[in-house]
Amino acid sequence: MSSAIINGKEIGQQIREAVAQRVEALTAKGLTPGLAVVLVGDNPASKTYVANKQKSCEAIGVFSELIKLDEATTQEALLAEIATLNERDDIHGILVQLPLPKHIDEDAVIAAIDPSKDVDGFSPISVGRMMLGQETFLPCTPFGVMKLLEHSGIEVAGKHAVIVGRSHIVGKPMGQLLLQKDATVTYTHSKTKDLPCYTKQADIIIAAVGRPNFITAEHVKEGAVVIDVGINRDEHNKLVGDVDFASVDGIASHITPVPGGVGPMTITMLLYNTVQSAEQKLNQ
Ligand code: NDP
Repeated sequence: MSSAIINGKEIGQQIREAVAQRVEALTAKGLTPGLAVVLVGDNPASKTYVANKQKSCEAIGVFSELIKLDEATTQEALLAEIATLNERDDIHGILVQLPLPKHIDEDAVIAAIDPSKDVDGFSPISVGRMMLGQETFLPCTPFGVMKLLEHSGIEVAGKHAVIVGRSHIVGKPMGQLLLQKDATVTYTHSKTKDLPCYTKQADIIIAAVGRPNFITAEHVKEGAVVIDVGINRDEHNKLVGDVDFASVDGIASHITPVPGGVGPMTITMLLYNTVQSAEQKLNQ
């Protein structure tokens, strides 16, 4: 029997509709939620991501402003831009599209975003609050995965979750969010010896590796839930995940496809966080 598909497109759409209603309510009170997207340089992938984010904002009535800066922009000038955005009343979320050019210290730029507008959840203050289980903006991709699990009725408490990958934006926060929901969490990474030994014990596998079709049947226990965060191009330039779908299908109880799984959730949660920030502003 095939694995059940966790449909991120559908779940993302449901959440976006609920967020759109919250935008309507805010607008009726005279407040339009606003997101500033800062793009430095001409990275083609970044340009596509930014365009998608702006289009998604527009679709639900969130104001979005693109601040496009030259590749040669100095760190000082970028920090000055962030300081201006921190002060602006019409901007409730600030997103700096990564990666930044090499001459700019990414950590310093992210740390400069006012935590009350850090809708990506990457600043040290946001990460610290998340670790402590305090109210904060959660990083959009792991937050989106938690929503997928919740909407699919997958119980996390008491389950063994094995995370493959430990990046600051996906793997690490993913483990924290699952831990907060009472999963037992194991982190694995490129130095892990005998990866299948760990993943085979998992009730929930989160693949955030960045390698096409990396997780196969040998990694997956019968009945496990497999969440594929990866977005890769294979040798035929086809969009594929970190999980070899065909190999795992029928072994996993549930699986997210690529595309149409985790991908649509990331922008959804960005909209969610931006609207929440605007609501918080109204309630101040
Ligand atoms: P990174 O490259 O930052 O991290 C990859 C992680 O995988 C690292 O921790 C690395 O370990 C680990 N890894 C690499 N090789 C192996 C291996 N052989 N065995 C076990 N672990 C390994 O990637 P990201 O976390 O940023 O992204 C992961 C994937 O998710 C990418 O495909 C990316 O495109 C996608 N992505 C998708 C998003 C979405 O919206 N759906 C959003 C963000 C990312 P080590 O730390 O030891 O180097």
